[in-house]
Amino acid sequence: MKAIKWFAPRDMRLTDIEKPVPKPHEALVRVESIGVCGSDMHYYEDGAIGQTRITEPLILGHEFAGIVEAVGKDADPALVGKRVAVEPSIPCGECEWCRTGHYNVCTNLFFPGGPPYDGVLCEYAAYDANNCYPTPDGMSAQEAAMIEPLAVAVHAVELARVQRGETAAVLGLGPIGLLTAQVAKLKGIEVVYGTDLHDYRVAASKRYGVDHAYNAETSDTVETIMRETNGRGVDVAFDAARSSDTPALACRVTRPVGRCILIGISGTEEDPFPVSNARRKELTVQWCRRFKSNFPEAIDLVATGKVDVSSIVTHSFPLERAPEAFALVAGFSDNVLKASVDL
Ligand SMILES: [Zn+2]
Ligand SMILES: [Zn+2]
Repeated sequence: MKAIKWFAPRDMRLTDIEKPVPKPHEALVRVESIGVCGSDMHYYEDGAIGQTRITEPLILGHEFAGIVEAVGKDADPALVGKRVAVEPSIPCGECEWCRTGHYNVCTNLFFPGGPPYDGVLCEYAAYDANNCYPTPDGMSAQEAAMIEPLAVAVHAVELARVQRGETAAVLGLGPIGLLTAQVAKLKGIEVVYGTDLHDYRVAASKRYGVDHAYNAETSDTVETIMRETNGRGVDVAFDAARSSDTPALACRVTRPVGRCILIGISGTEEDPFPVSNARRKELTVQWCRRFKSNFPEAIDLVATGKVDVSSIVTHSFPLERAPEAFALVAGFSDNVLKASVDL
């Protein structure tokens, strides 16, 4: 079957690999749609996220959906023929973190598209059937692939424990930021301030629940948000950028005893923090690691039309042209929000 492999930074090529056979408990998914994620960009451009480095050619991709074509022994045969959104993380189920309900930080986690594990930029994936969530009729494959990043947003907002009427800042208005803004609004956040370095993303964000959006290049993030909140700061700040600067900015725009939720992946091992500012305000700084049992809610939010994922997918490429999708996202070209690879 066809697969797209990463060979070196900005060098991805079409290759041929063996089609997988579902093992017991697995479903064979004919991949229909794969989203290009911001985290993929670190591998695409640098071959690494912090100390996690690609050492041999690797298939990227982890946000995906498809049709179950067959199931292995002990997997539910009712899945066959269904379109599924696939939760990509497969935890070990045995470590202390799995046993205590924190499977997203499992120390033996399988996660596709990050070294050493191949991802799903290919025609078929054999996957644990328990990770395959059938999607309701009418949900497109692109929407189903967006369930994965939406689950991240749902988890981030759940970690923020938002109260009705609160204010929030979303730093970084890419797909994760736009999904987080929408979910935060649904959960009761009244006003969302957003910042990004790209004018087209600032403009687009108004369609996704961001009330006041600014270009962080021309409007100082801290000055602007502090002014807009009469010097108080927001109740919750979400860092949804791919930047070493935004964790610190999130702290600085948060009000005393507020919460900072850090979702973004800067790609470095250490980022600067305004420790005095955060300590004086007794902030709660909470990192977000992907998602934790959030697929069912994410599917429901899309199925009921409460969250718009489909218009965030602005570009689509066939598998053979997946390298163009990555180049497009890396360059913030053609007003791209999310690019997807559709088979
Ligand atoms: Zn992702
Ligand atoms: Zn585990």
